[in-house]
Amino acid sequence: MTAKLIDGTLIAAQVRQETGDAVARLKAEHGLAPGLATVLVGENPASKAYVGSKQKACQELGMVSIGCKLPDTASQEEVEKVVRDLNADPQVHGILVQLPLPRHLNEERILSAVSLEKDVDGFHPVNIGRLSMKGREPLFVPCTPAGCIELLVRSGVKIAGAEAVVLGRSNIVGLPVSMLLLHRDATVTICHSRSADLPAICRRADILIAAVGRADMVKADWVKPGAAVIDVGINQAWVAHPADREYVCATSGKTFAGHRAEESDKGSRREVGQYCAACDKAWLKGQNAPECCEQCGPHCGHVKLFRRYKLVGDVDFDQVQEVAGYLTPVPGGVGPMTIAMLMHNTYRGALHTIK
Ligand code: NDP
Repeated sequence: MTAKLIDGTLIAAQVRQETGDAVARLKAEHGLAPGLATVLVGENPASKAYVGSKQKACQELGMVSIGCKLPDTASQEEVEKVVRDLNADPQVHGILVQLPLPRHLNEERILSAVSLEKDVDGFHPVNIGRLSMKGREPLFVPCTPAGCIELLVRSGVKIAGAEAVVLGRSNIVGLPVSMLLLHRDATVTICHSRSADLPAICRRADILIAAVGRADMVKADWVKPGAAVIDVGINQAWVAHPADREYVCATSGKTFAGHRAEESDKGSRREVGQYCAACDKAWLKGQNAPECCEQCGPHCGHVKLFRRYKLVGDVDFDQVQEVAGYLTPVPGGVGPMTIAMLMHNTYRGALHTIK
């Protein structure tokens, strides 16, 4: 059996198109353009890239995008004040605080400061609480979990009555996706790092959602033939490069592979260490340079060492596609749905203000 591929890029494009059309109607009928405010604290490159793509998506769909950028030295009070000001701004219908926040900030307090009516990420305790209660409706549902459900529904996978297993119980993915499946009348089992015999539990699943952050963890013999498998995981797996050499870290004694910057183009690579041609010594990223290199200094030919990586999910795609009935790829599965659902939530935020 070869699984039917669930094309997240295609389904996300459909959701975005529908949201864009709804935004155009809202503007024509009520003169209202949905506005999304992003709050970015610090210089984390991945966070900057995520915020950038959310702002771009807003513009593409005719929404207003408001970017608030704070330095990584911003205080708790400063960040909370920005959130409070956005709560009061009628142009803003959704507030997204980009996570992770710098360590000195209290994430829980900042997320709780976002007004319930503008909580497009769906992480406000009241929204999560309503999601977890029978007969209650949250104003917003967290975007990645909502995206998982949308992928199942639009692929024709029956949820009511199905046995669903969710790997992972995080506040961001595992827990809310479990609640959403329960709301849709699946029988749900939630697994975590202390669960015993995961393969046996997973084999019971008609719907298996993997959200653990462990590359290729779910193998073919974990999957019931014909099951729908949604792979939320995004992990970096090293890929061999012809120029890779083995180095020994002069500081920690550990061996590591890498190649010099000029031996590969940019793209998907990560800095793993440095090498000094003058001393013929290498050291891992995060380790201090050996003493001799500190004396001779960077001018003597320190170069950065890199390794190539590719993105893989929590599911061993090649194995599982032979057993599953439906399967999402990584990348191109759940990932594109997250922003599409955020746009949908922002549109709904604007809609709430006229109803
Ligand atoms: P967290 O690290 O917050 O949670 C991971 C969960 O997996 C925890 O509940 C943990 O259990 C469980 N877990 C970890 N190791 C094991 C194991 N060996 N066996 C069983 N359970 C295990 O991660 P997130 O939920 O934030 O993210 C999960 C994955 O999804 C990551 O790869 C992340 O990058 C990706 N992701 C993708 C998104 C997308 O848009 N596609 C959005 C958000 C996340 P315990 O609670 O016991 O510690």
